[in-house]
Amino acid sequence: MGNCVGGSGSNDCVNPQTRDVTNEGHHQVKADKGQQGYPDQHGPHPAASGATKSASKVPTGSVLNRPMENVRNRYNLGKELGRGQFGVTHLCTDKSTGALFACKSIAKRKLANKDDIEDVRREVQIMHHLAGQPNVVEMKGAFEDKQSVHLVMELCGGGELFDRIIARGHYTEKAAAAACRTIVEVVHTCHSLGVMHRDLKPENFLLLNKSEESPLKATDFGLSVFFKQGDVFKDIVGSAYYVAPEVLRRSYGPETDVWSAGVILYILLSGVPPFWADTEQGIFDAILKGHIDYTSDPWPSISQGALDLVKKMLKQDPRERLTAQQVLSHPWIRVDGEASDKPIDGAVLGRMKQFRAMNKLKKLALKVIAESMSEEEIMGLKQMFKSMDTDNSGTITFEELKIGLAKQGSNLAEHEVRQLMDAADVDGNGTIDYLEFITATMHMNKMEKGDHLYSAFQYFDKDGSGYITMEELEEALTKHGMGDPQAIKEILAEVDTDHDGRINYEEFVAMMCKGSPDADANRRRGKVVGGAPLH
Ligand code: ADP
Repeated sequence: MGNCVGGSGSNDCVNPQTRDVTNEGHHQVKADKGQQGYPDQHGPHPAASGATKSASKVPTGSVLNRPMENVRNRYNLGKELGRGQFGVTHLCTDKSTGALFACKSIAKRKLANKDDIEDVRREVQIMHHLAGQPNVVEMKGAFEDKQSVHLVMELCGGGELFDRIIARGHYTEKAAAAACRTIVEVVHTCHSLGVMHRDLKPENFLLLNKSEESPLKATDFGLSVFFKQGDVFKDIVGSAYYVAPEVLRRSYGPETDVWSAGVILYILLSGVPPFWADTEQGIFDAILKGHIDYTSDPWPSISQGALDLVKKMLKQDPRERLTAQQVLSHPWIRVDGEASDKPIDGAVLGRMKQFRAMNKLKKLALKVIAESMSEEEIMGLKQMFKSMDTDNSGTITFEELKIGLAKQGSNLAEHEVRQLMDAADVDGNGTIDYLEFITATMHMNKMEKGDHLYSAFQYFDKDGSGYITMEELEEALTKHGMGDPQAIKEILAEVDTDHDGRINYEEFVAMMCKGSPDADANRRRGKVVGGAPLH
């Protein structure tokens, strides 16, 4: 990790060995537990068994709880890229494709207690949950062997945002607005998916490449947690300069991420942190006191718009602070610079809308895929499902969906909620069950995994002929209460591009990947998507 901003003094970041700003209170305190009626009640998730198919031979890892696998079977590990609290990150190369990645290896012997193990497990779950977000470092896979846990991630070769700030001194307003916008978009995405980052700082934003216009990617979700509306957190975590006053007062929620983003914006504009002292305690005192200097250079020459936004992000009282969504609507930061009433969709709503537009075969195929996903891939959506299913019945009703989406800031008319409800309710029984929720809200990047796609194809191609025939399609749809002749006609018209009256694997993959920006981009780059064997 980089040093802290203004690092000429002795006030380094929070001790990176503990990452807590105090030694105690690493635990979150929240009203949870005692749940009934959740997936567990439907038996273990199929994926749990899927993931341990070969468990009889291969020992199960104690951190990820799945069969151990040597990361070196698939990747060559190269030079060191950086070092953090628990792990070392190396350049790594996919042996079969030659593609470059970064591999963060966390030594298990450094995981001293159950909480440390839980932190790593949660980091993996959260990275899965955030997969497909353009400004979040993509995780390609997690491996565990006897010594370490390895997280293979997208490679960010441009270094840390922190270093770029140091190199530049500070940013122009335009560049600061663009960087801040990306950071707050990440915060908004995290919040709308029920995740609090809790450790936002320039060191945790990496540049994808060395160009001036390089995309920014959020990384290090090691301190992130899932939250539900109304949860109150008490554990003090974060890094001194960026920690919000309510965290120090031990009573906080997601608003704390907006504060940290506000501190980053202040630094981007002025080159120095808003709260500064020689000791960590001094920084905390300054944060609690709350006086911020907006008079020294360069503040007099900074625009009113920028000043207005920084002040609103750094409101002492979290209830008065802007939400991530409100920040994104602020005139200074908006892409086109003009205010608009158009609401900004949260990730869940966006995914449900996308799901609604799919044909029935694709919906059903996604359901088959959702069934085979591992527990760690779907943990985040399980948490979201729980937060919407307020009566713990194991299903989401129309009312619950309406309230759940409204809580996330969506402003939908009754009939729009109804449309989403009907779309997600694949079996048409009037409520959304757990599997239907996962199906409708998982990210399309799951499509990129060829093995998922191939097994979904096989599910429909009952006789293994290499084609999904009209009869097979009808049978599958009928079985799930979706079989009407009109639907079959529509599916064939859309998917059967060679017009032979049946669907081959290539057509199936094309259908599944349609509308998935990542997959489309990969195809353009000539990468094989869904490259399972053809018959
Ligand atoms: P820790 O969680 O142990 O603090 P980090 O996630 O901060 O570890 O990673 C440590 C360092 O490794 C970072 O400072 C960064 O320079 C480098 N690093 C991490 N992820 C990547 C990546 N995806 N691409 C390139 N470098 C990375």
